[in-house]
Amino acid sequence: MTRPADPHGVLRDAVRTLCRRFPDEYWRGVDRTRAYPDEFVQALTAHGYLAALIPETYGGAGLSITEAGIILEEIHRSGGNAAACHAQMYTMGALLRHGSAAQKTQYLPKIATGELRLQAFAVTEPDAGSDTTSIRTTAVRRGARYTVNGQKIFTSRVRQSDLMMLLARTTPSEDLTDKTEGLSLFLVDLRNAGDRLRVEPIETMLNHHTNQVFFDGLEVPVENLIGEEGRGFRYIIDGWNAERILLAAEAVGDGRWFIDRASRYARDRVVFGRPIGSNQGVQFPIAQAYAHVEAADLVRFDAARRFDAGEPCGAQANMAKYLAAEAAWEAANACLSTHGGYGFAVEYDVERKFRETRLFKEAPISNNLVLAYLGHRVLGLPRSY
Ligand SMILES: Cc1cc2nc3c(=O)[nH]c(=O)nc-3n(C[C@H](O)[C@H](O)[C@H](O)COP(=O)(O)OP(=O)(O)OC[C@H]3O[C@@H](n4cnc5c(N)ncnc54)[C@H](O)[C@@H]3O)c2cc1C
Repeated sequence: MTRPADPHGVLRDAVRTLCRRFPDEYWRGVDRTRAYPDEFVQALTAHGYLAALIPETYGGAGLSITEAGIILEEIHRSGGNAAACHAQMYTMGALLRHGSAAQKTQYLPKIATGELRLQAFAVTEPDAGSDTTSIRTTAVRRGARYTVNGQKIFTSRVRQSDLMMLLARTTPSEDLTDKTEGLSLFLVDLRNAGDRLRVEPIETMLNHHTNQVFFDGLEVPVENLIGEEGRGFRYIIDGWNAERILLAAEAVGDGRWFIDRASRYARDRVVFGRPIGSNQGVQFPIAQAYAHVEAADLVRFDAARRFDAGEPCGAQANMAKYLAAEAAWEAANACLSTHGGYGFAVEYDVERKFRETRLFKEAPISNNLVLAYLGHRVLGLPRSY
């Protein structure tokens, strides 16, 4: 029996070919020095992969979420990490869906070519992570400009961006009856920010270029407001399904990388005169993680298909993100255990990927909040927030 051809085989092969130029040594090097993987991001940009979701009318590739996910999956499956640039792929979604015709014409073609980098999305604050609607950074309109004051935390890639999406409060919370109103979305041109915006890098357990950002009277022209004032939270929710599906694809890619490495090592490593993979204590955790990664992959493709067909997909997108993050973490642990002490040696890359894949369980949304969505929105259980 012949296996049906992969309908995305050409795309997968093309991304794999590009990723081969960035082997383990490359990723190990940028991890060691905490450097931004500039050459990699430039190569992806030059091949148009980061413009996958921008329609062709604006100079993008006009691909589906299914295809965009395959690009990200292959990057992770190759041993790389798309966190350095995946926001460039989907952060523009708010602009595409809710921006004015003038904003789209002005920015999207330049984002598509990489001339303008839109890598940063500033939502989280020190006292508002999971509970986005409690953010306190304000944008107060005075004539033709908004003045922004406040603080964001974990704003990734600000220093690698020309533009930043910013969620800020335009109506005080005490004046609202609905806490999902009163927040607005802005496209901030970081090149003009000067000393009204201060960036302090945060060191993290992985090579992730994240920061604290302080706004001290930053002025944003009214023409940089996305959509209507006060509707910003709704606009970012509109992007959540796409984000969840794409991150699920990355986690599946990580899961497959761990399974491949664990299987190879388990076949080759001989202890007590036989390959360690012949012991069920070694073999079964890998097989179990494999089953879970493949199951997560099915849900991820189901979510992507629904998304591309314009069908409701909130439940599937959330389940895909949850299942893929958990399966990748299970695969990471199986891979580390299979490698014994060598899993901790930097040159095997397992410890790096282990640190990287752990993030999927917490950010951009923690798996607890995904379960809360399923409990509340899908199963009709009482909400905890
Ligand atoms: C490396 C990194 C990069 C990031 N990049 C960005 C970025 O670019 N832009 C941005 O805006 N943010 C970014 N974030 C922030 C990220 O989105 C938040 O960390 C995440 O939303 C969780 O918020 P928190 O850390 O404040 O956790 P909290 O909201 O304080 O929650 C702490 C814990 O309590 C749990 N919890 C809270 N409430 C409930 C409940 N009702 N039921 C069950 N459990 C609950 C949470 O699940 C979590 O486990 C990044 C974070 C990291 C670590």
